[in-house]
Amino acid sequence: MSGQPGEVERVRRQYLESELRFRALLESLPKVAVQGYDRDRRVIYWNEASARLYGYSAEEAQGRQLEDLIIPDFMREGVIGAHRAWVEEGREIPAEELELRHRSGELVPVFSHHVMLNEHTDEPLMFCVDVDLSDQKRAHRELDFAKRFDRLTHLPNRETFEQQLAMAMEDSRQQGAALVLVYLDIDHFVDINDALGYQQGDQLLIQLATRLGARLRASDIMSRASSDEFLMAFPGVHHQEDISRLVLKVQEVLRSPFPLDGKSRKVTACLGVSVFPANGESAGELIRNADVAKNRAKLNGRGQVLYFDQKLHDELLYQHRLSDRLEQGLEAGELTLYYQPQVSAASGRVENLEALLRWFPREGDPVSPAEFIPLAERSGLIHRIGDWVMEEACRQRAVWREAGLPLERIDINFSGSQMNRADLFERLDTCLELHGLGPRDIGIELTENVLIEADERVLDGLRRLYHRGFRIAIDDFGTGYSSLSYLKRFPVTALKIDRSFVRDAPSQPEDRAIMEATVFIGHRLGLEVVAEGVENAEQLTLLREMRCDLVQGFYFFAPLGAPEVERLLAGMLTGHPGLSS
Ligand code: C2E
Ligand code: MG
Ligand code: MG
Repeated sequence: MSGQPGEVERVRRQYLESELRFRALLESLPKVAVQGYDRDRRVIYWNEASARLYGYSAEEAQGRQLEDLIIPDFMREGVIGAHRAWVEEGREIPAEELELRHRSGELVPVFSHHVMLNEHTDEPLMFCVDVDLSDQKRAHRELDFAKRFDRLTHLPNRETFEQQLAMAMEDSRQQGAALVLVYLDIDHFVDINDALGYQQGDQLLIQLATRLGARLRASDIMSRASSDEFLMAFPGVHHQEDISRLVLKVQEVLRSPFPLDGKSRKVTACLGVSVFPANGESAGELIRNADVAKNRAKLNGRGQVLYFDQKLHDELLYQHRLSDRLEQGLEAGELTLYYQPQVSAASGRVENLEALLRWFPREGDPVSPAEFIPLAERSGLIHRIGDWVMEEACRQRAVWREAGLPLERIDINFSGSQMNRADLFERLDTCLELHGLGPRDIGIELTENVLIEADERVLDGLRRLYHRGFRIAIDDFGTGYSSLSYLKRFPVTALKIDRSFVRDAPSQPEDRAIMEATVFIGHRLGLEVVAEGVENAEQLTLLREMRCDLVQGFYFFAPLGAPEVERLLAGMLTGHPGLSS
């Protein structure tokens, strides 16, 4: 029974035990800081976690007032008021996220619960249960940083930059000023990574970001847009000439070499520039157009700068569509080979044919290879087109041989990017074999620049062809590096003098001299010399005097379709009447 002394003692003991258990529980929660306060907000309880969270030991805290210990000044009045409202009117203090003061003065983020005991008595007690939120806050901040900034350079990422750019554009609009956007893309960054390793690649990016950052004014903004690309925006531009000055400023950053891997290395980059408001109304559009200009600049080589304009945009759009149409055209069989005869300068006899690609779209006008080949090189379609040309030329050669038509061989053109394909020469072999042809039936033409840029693998492949008796000609000779000393290094059998020299030779003594020297040196090196673009008798006379071997051009034949070639080779079609034969 409750009135008995033994029973009272038992309840009291139970109460004390549960109190001890409760305290032990509170002490054991490492992250939950519990403090008890009396009616004057003096500390009567302070657990270990509170000591860790706020920096005061239990002894130090005991008896001191809440507002003097952990309440920041700006909250002082509010806390005292809320506590009084609870004591006097019983108004609950809601749980909330707060920043309380550590002994060091720093603020600590906590989630604070208030447990009220002994309400409506003379000894009301308030227990605060604070959960430390620092880790969560830090993680949150880090996540937020990762979402908005680049980890390596700590620059805003593209999304963040786009938001900042939109604001900067608005500011410029209000000032009636322009904003210049520069898109920077490091040239051949992959090679730097490959040669020096990713760590050095990262070093370069950090150094470049630092250099660029040092040149910016407070209102300029910058971003690492992707691996090796940076975006910079310069708002408040009032004069036209300031645009190029800004671009120059960016370029100057690359002038001095970068210390990488213990050496100093020269780094180049291409820049695309767009200007607000002329080149875009929205941040996204302005960035896209600078990107378009940058990509276009890259096609021109290293260290190039290009300004966006609408013409460029339209041209790219046109090329994009043309590229799609070309792919469809290839599949639909719209490509054809034409053949331009190469005739002996001395006798006028047709010796070989150069295969020249023609595209007659089912809808629309014919498109010149000078236009669509570079396009196909950029899109990578050149490999499929090249396969088709190889196959078609071999097939045709076999058909004409079968028909007994008098013809040495057909030459096909290989462009630079076709060389990148490791198995190009194997494919040529397979194709020849398939049609029962040998090395003398098909020749190849390459430009000088392709040869000079060729790596050992390509040169090896060419050397093997050369030793097997293939004819290999340098096309458009004189328009590239034009170093005669290179000639002996390359496995070639013929030179084709570019038509610009042939065109100007009759009127320009310099062109005539170059042509004459080329024929002479070509012969000394045991090469056959071909002149292309021969259009009149005057040119032909000169070429004959110089002892050029073969001539090709409209004066004799334009590129012909296969049926015309057949009639020509069968003797039913004659060349230019002025030819001696
Ligand atoms: P290329 O190999 O230098 O071809 C010679 C170009 O000169 C041809 O232009 C030809 O039609 C043109 N030509 C021939 N005689 C004369 C002349 O007397 N006067 C003038 N003004 N031009 C003449 P085409 O057919 O438009 O080809 C242009 C370029 O496209 C070729 O230059 C070649 O680099 C490329 N190409 C053509 N077919 C192929 C191909 O199958 N594969 C590859 N990779 N490139 C090709
Ligand atoms: Mg050619
Ligand atoms: Mg040529």
